Amino acid sequence: MRYQSIKGFRDIFGSNAKNFIFIENTARKIFRKYNYQEIRTPLVESAELFLRSIGETTDIVEKELYVFEDKGKRRIALRPEGTACVVRAYIENNLSQKYATQSFFYIGQMFRQDRPQAGRFREFSQIGCEYFGNTSVYADIEVILLAKEIIERCNVNDIKIEINSLGCEKCRPTLVSSVKNILRKEFNMLCDDCKRRMEKNPLRALDCKVDGKKFSDIKFVLCDICNSEFEKLKTGLSNAGVDFAVSNTLVRGLDYYTKTVFEIKSGVLGSQNSVCAGGRYDNLVKDLGGAPTPAVGFAIGTDRLAEIIEKTSCRKQEEYYPVFVAAFGNDKTLEYGFNILRELRDAGIVSAGGYFTKSLKAQMRIANTVGSKYAVIIGDEENKKKVVVLRDMTAKSQKEVIPQTLITMIKNTDSGD
Ligand code: ATP
Ligand code: MG
Repeated sequence: MRYQSIKGFRDIFGSNAKNFIFIENTARKIFRKYNYQEIRTPLVESAELFLRSIGETTDIVEKELYVFEDKGKRRIALRPEGTACVVRAYIENNLSQKYATQSFFYIGQMFRQDRPQAGRFREFSQIGCEYFGNTSVYADIEVILLAKEIIERCNVNDIKIEINSLGCEKCRPTLVSSVKNILRKEFNMLCDDCKRRMEKNPLRALDCKVDGKKFSDIKFVLCDICNSEFEKLKTGLSNAGVDFAVSNTLVRGLDYYTKTVFEIKSGVLGSQNSVCAGGRYDNLVKDLGGAPTPAVGFAIGTDRLAEIIEKTSCRKQEEYYPVFVAAFGNDKTLEYGFNILRELRDAGIVSAGGYFTKSLKAQMRIANTVGSKYAVIIGDEENKKKVVVLRDMTAKSQKEVIPQTLITMIKNTDSGD
């Protein structure tokens, strides 16, 4: 019996794992600079939370949500996105009262029963943030700048930022009916999903993934307030040096957005080219039972960003070559060898080794394979004299040194951290 990971799930290791770490470390540094606090919420929530927030007629809830019953007959779901979870945590823990600035970020896995294909997994990772309590358009600009900076600091530069405004409750009915009209006219062209959406949730049709549909002639007519805010957003972004395009058909796959929505796309990816999506959601906190609180945020797809980094080889070089400790001989010698290995690590030197049941020859073969520049060789003779043999693997030369000198010598080369 050989076990396999289940469809749409995968293991992340090697170069891909390094890309993930690079992205996450970069993001954490930048969030700190913007004074965002990290928040970790559970991977499971009550299914109801997502039905209420994301919307019952969205793809995420209708088709993609992992829902199951636990032993207590509760309907629970694997989280498909982070915003609803952070909002739940924000209300439940009374975070609005606990902190004067209310900007949070998260890093973690999401689960959706999407159709597996390039750039779409059933378990994927997002880096996202939620900024509560600020109606100013500068909050929108801040999160767009933040997303842009994270992506660019990962050395990904070939990006396009698209923005749109979905308006407020006042503009929404006009918006919905104008989209409905267009859909009605093109009814025969629509896929089955969109035929259904036309009545229940017409805006969703604009985000339809079935090819061959064009809604480019749609104009979103906003109320005066939303319109002037959208103008301020555009001016503010230009002043901040952000290149962007207005997309009239940009909507999000979640129902809770109001006003600003945005998406960041990469020229390097194929059809799943969106690396980040976000926007403002001024009603969600209230809808989920909290005090009325405006909010804006985004989510970056880590898997897709990692793929771009892999394709363009733009990860900063983080390679290191461990010092390799090889010991052979009697038990006391092996114990001495293991102590040396520990001392190297305690001194902050990247070290491998400890394969002491293998022959010296086999141990040296491993040292070569892992790319060690230095090997530390210890036999019974060395143990007796309390010295070690330091071998320079490139120069193929070696000398006897005492452990204290060993550490300084290695630290003075590039093998340390
Ligand atoms: P898409 O339009 O590609 O389905 P979405 O609108 O469902 O995306 P969001 O929920 O807004 O996506 O998520 C933000 C980002 O998360 C996306 O831009 C993408 O990079 C990433 N993402 C979403 N779904 C997946 C998935 N199944 N696998 C990998 N990454 C994903
Ligand atoms: Mg989707």
